[in-house]
Amino acid sequence: MEIIRVIAMPDLAVTAAWAVLVLVTLVLATRHQAGPPCAEDAIGARRRQGAGRGEVRPTAPGALGLALLVALLGGGASVGCAPPARETGRPVAAATIAPLADLAARVAGPGWEVRTVMPPGVSEHVFEPDPREVRAVAPARLVVVAGGGLDDWVRKLLQACAPGVPVFDAGAAVGIHAPKGGAGGHGHGASHGGGGELDEEPHWWLSAALAARSLAPMAEAFARVDPAGAAGYRERAARETEELLALDRQIAAELAPFRGRRFVSAHLAWSQFAARYGLVPVGAVEPVPGREPSPRDLKELIDAARHGGSGALFTEPQFPPGAARVIAREAGIRLTTVDPIGGVPGRETYPELMRFNADAFARGLSGEGP
Ligand SMILES: [Zn+2]
Repeated sequence: MEIIRVIAMPDLAVTAAWAVLVLVTLVLATRHQAGPPCAEDAIGARRRQGAGRGEVRPTAPGALGLALLVALLGGGASVGCAPPARETGRPVAAATIAPLADLAARVAGPGWEVRTVMPPGVSEHVFEPDPREVRAVAPARLVVVAGGGLDDWVRKLLQACAPGVPVFDAGAAVGIHAPKGGAGGHGHGASHGGGGELDEEPHWWLSAALAARSLAPMAEAFARVDPAGAAGYRERAARETEELLALDRQIAAELAPFRGRRFVSAHLAWSQFAARYGLVPVGAVEPVPGREPSPRDLKELIDAARHGGSGALFTEPQFPPGAARVIAREAGIRLTTVDPIGGVPGRETYPELMRFNADAFARGLSGEGP
């Protein structure tokens, strides 16, 4: 019946659908040249710098491709930002990175669909949103960000595609703020090697104690969007806070034997983790994410690893392992994988991710192998 009705649809409706498609295409093609936020700023131009190296993603479509995508997704009702035609029916929240999305889902409960904006395998420091991320955020009623300058890339996306949507800055809620003078989304300027200010170190979720502290204010953010559900959000946040504090104690106990041990990581993500669990970050293979070390940097890292008492080197799935392998081999130290972001099988939930990292640090620092 459905098919027959479609075929029998008056020509007028078909013509109107095509007219919308063509109109949207023209509008976007024109805007593309003028530099509109959705087609150019938030998506096209920024992709040229490339997402995480080693990551295989198709290139962003041109203005025409994007226009077609937009038209197909939403019939052109809302240029550039239409939600997918098929929704789950649940209200949508979006979080920039996987561990935050899991925390948000725990507070939101089953009544919400919580989406992750940044796909796995990419460094949060070089990530460039493309149309898939537009689809993630466009229908969101609340967006959760890590803050501290780490995921500012989402702000442009929101300006273009979800203007006015409430943003919950979870980092700010636990006392993290962007480094003064701006860190360009890296947040590493003042925190090199963990010697900087911890309240400017944006990888706060890698301390389970800080993650636990983010949940009660997150519940209030959900309650502001949906006052009728406030009691549920607060109840879940309280319960999950206890869970995360228990996880925090487990990790602290597991890493207690390694107190004061030094390590080098792929990028400067582990200052909060180290501060909470008694370790000492002494450097990174890529202090500026996206810029691989020069031969001179490599030599310094090898010397530091040989003579600085750094017993372990930790690589991360979002960074190319080549330089780390060289350092580990030359310095004769162990290379172990840790993961600040997760969002992949085995590290999908926040507790899974943190247990993975605690185990990896314990293994790497005890010299038990990768
Ligand atoms: Zn980072």
